[in-house]
Amino acid sequence: MDFIPYSRHEVTTEDVDAVARALRSDFLTQGALVPDFEAKFALRHAARHGVAVSNATAALHVILLACDIGSGSSVWTSPISFVASANCALYCGATIDFVDIDPESRNMSVPALKLKLIAAKRLEKLPSAVIPVDFAGMPADLKEMRELADEYGFWLIEDASHATGAAYQGLPIGAAYAHASIFSFHAVKIITTGEGGMVLTNDDDLARRLRLLRSHGITRDPQMMKGESPGPWYYEQTALGFNYRMTEAQAALGISQLARLDEMQVRRERLAARYDELLADEPLILPRRLPDRRSAWHLYAIEIEAHRGAPSRAHVFERMRNAAIGVNVHYIPIHLQPYYASIGFSSGSFPASERYYARAISIPLFPGMSNSQQDRVVETLRHALGPS
Ligand SMILES: *Cc1c(COP(=O)(O)O)cnc(C)c1O
Repeated sequence: MDFIPYSRHEVTTEDVDAVARALRSDFLTQGALVPDFEAKFALRHAARHGVAVSNATAALHVILLACDIGSGSSVWTSPISFVASANCALYCGATIDFVDIDPESRNMSVPALKLKLIAAKRLEKLPSAVIPVDFAGMPADLKEMRELADEYGFWLIEDASHATGAAYQGLPIGAAYAHASIFSFHAVKIITTGEGGMVLTNDDDLARRLRLLRSHGITRDPQMMKGESPGPWYYEQTALGFNYRMTEAQAALGISQLARLDEMQVRRERLAARYDELLADEPLILPRRLPDRRSAWHLYAIEIEAHRGAPSRAHVFERMRNAAIGVNVHYIPIHLQPYYASIGFSSGSFPASERYYARAISIPLFPGMSNSQQDRVVETLRHALGPS
């Protein structure tokens, strides 16, 4: 029996040729392909600036630094995310806290965020940045969150790692509401560069600072220098930056993948709609649709309904894995990780996230998945949900 993974990259002959051309060119790094990828990705998401970096974790790190997040700052994110959404605050010396999810959308809850902001204001402990996550590719409630950002004065940084190509109220996600949005091109994500990430923003100043921080804090632009340039050899380090650059071969792959984004998107949507249909009568909670947004469908996450005699998540998970179906769980709530327990978080603090986690399973969904593979997933799942 072939193993069906929960996600799989799609690399075509055209992708391989594009990478090979990049490898045969004069530049392996800092050539013309990275700026080209940035421009195309930004254009696709209707954003003014794209800044490519080595991965989305680096993107989260540099955007917080560009927003002057440091010791004394506090950052809030969703517990139902990959740990990088929270770790980035700690890299900057800031403190991290969480806002519980809305059990329907599985994204950060706006009412919970509002309540927490009101309490934080009273204590004079307002966050400097809030990082909602577009879970599974479904855009968060960005409009309401931007209103809160303007009212309470925090940076709204969208973790759109799952959401390349998603749309919200008719506009591509990217920079319409968030001050900046970050994307991941890890192999399991919507499009891939192997490893890779991008920040999109409409803010000229943020973009300038991001470009500086991803490359050691060094500038060769005389306009950005503190002193007079004595000659063309001269460069200045004006901030403490990093080497978070993307390579030319990665950018070549990204450009080639981006050209197929819409087509891959349609295939993900078809598969998701087919799951909706095939699983409609099972004792499952399926991903919720929201009429004003288009999900990128990075994941198809189901929850096993809690009722008397319902099989446990562990039971279903094991039956699926034993049948060579690569199910997964997204995510173990970040605050339950031992590291986060060691800095003071404990179970019970974000109950909607914990309830979701207890019953969640991500089943396979990727553009190259065939209908017969999907049928096998559905059949196996039906058996796993039935009497053992
Ligand atoms: C994948 C992911 C990241 C990190 O992306 P990398 O490119 O692997 O660093 C951050 N946040 C979320 C929600 C992710 O899914």
